[in-house]
Amino acid sequence: MTDRDQLIMFVVGAAVQALPETFFISKILLCQHSAFYKMSLQGDWGESYKRCIELPKGNPRIFGSFIEYIKTGNTKMLWLTGANAENVQTARTDMHHIISLHGLADMCQVIPLKDRILDVFINLPMYSQAPLIFEHIEQIYQVARPESKIRQWALDKWQRNGSQLSDEQEKQCPRFAIALEHAMNESGPSEQIQMNDFTCVYHEHAGNIRCPLHQ
Ligand SMILES: [Zn+2]
Repeated sequence: MTDRDQLIMFVVGAAVQALPETFFISKILLCQHSAFYKMSLQGDWGESYKRCIELPKGNPRIFGSFIEYIKTGNTKMLWLTGANAENVQTARTDMHHIISLHGLADMCQVIPLKDRILDVFINLPMYSQAPLIFEHIEQIYQVARPESKIRQWALDKWQRNGSQLSDEQEKQCPRFAIALEHAMNESGPSEQIQMNDFTCVYHEHAGNIRCPLHQ
């Protein structure tokens, strides 16, 4: 039997807004890009027959950007934010959205999108020059898995900015407080990693392939 393509329908946001939004995507395309959906839609797992997936707590705006990235290799969220941000507050809000997108890419195991997001944070002045606020750190620790390099990036940036954690913040995000203390007991932020360099340091693509973003 040939593996005929089919459309998967996602219904997103039923629990967070009055009308959920629907997105359609080719199953083959989705499975090509997402190791998570490849496993859950093609394997022996319960969802392999599914054509409709409900994500009631999902944010339609973030999910829409994710689908846009899968279909086109880019998303307006990445090339419009930053460039359009008019003030610090807008940049902070944009950053929250992008961190959420990273969390989704992390969950779905779409590594090129995660790498791309780190590049945006490192290279767009709107993000690279602004200090990372505690709310960003907190969000990163909520949405990104412990092994995600975005945690290391956030830690390095926090140290480079010379930001301090208050007692209250330590309580709110104890895992970050521990990581920070550990890093400070070592040697401080590593000097050879310049935030504005084009670097693979925070990428997660396999080390034996040439960096797809920097050639
Ligand atoms: Zn790379």
